[in-house]
Amino acid sequence: MGAYIEMGKLFVISGSSGVGKGTLLKLFLDKHPEFKLSVSCTTRKPREGEENGVNYFFLSTEEFNNLIKNDEFLEWAEFSCNMYGTQKAYVERKLSEGKNLILELDTTGALNVKKVMPEACLIFILPPSMEELESRLRGRHTESEDAIQKRLNTVKIEIERSNQFDYKIVNDDLEKALLELENVMCK
Ligand code: 5GP
Repeated sequence: MGAYIEMGKLFVISGSSGVGKGTLLKLFLDKHPEFKLSVSCTTRKPREGEENGVNYFFLSTEEFNNLIKNDEFLEWAEFSCNMYGTQKAYVERKLSEGKNLILELDTTGALNVKKVMPEACLIFILPPSMEELESRLRGRHTESEDAIQKRLNTVKIEIERSNQFDYKIVNDDLEKALLELENVMCK
């Protein structure tokens, strides 16, 4: 008789930029090796230090379009002229290996995944407040006023969409947010 492997669980985490989602996720993943961050496909060029198959599967536009044509994506989206997508076969393989898989997606992508895989658990990371988020974004000193206003508008839309998520976690205190994430994901 073959060994029985329990299917892994699928989680989708969304949260606006500046919300500290990356730091929170890194802390969680370091502590819980039984969870794996999904590797998406993209047509954007690798940044310095990024590796194919580790950060992304870097594809040509033609390769990406072929995957769309063959209905191989669980979901996909275009941001700043680059395409990003999560392959169905990749997710199915990881889950059947018993891995708990985390997709880090924008809210549209997350809600699209939920349509296809209703068992996916959607978690939204909220900023403590709009004021706090605004000051975090300004504190980065990397963007123009116009770009900051655009981001804040996107955040408002995303927060509205997050009403359709299974859980919302406010990241006002990193340790507290980590505990809440563990309560949701490790039960
Ligand atoms: P970056 O180019 O900075 O790595 O990512 C740009 C955006 O693409 C981020 O908001 C990221 O969450 C999103 N993204 C990465 N992979 C996927 C994916 O597979 N699907 C969707 N919908 N968005 C993704």
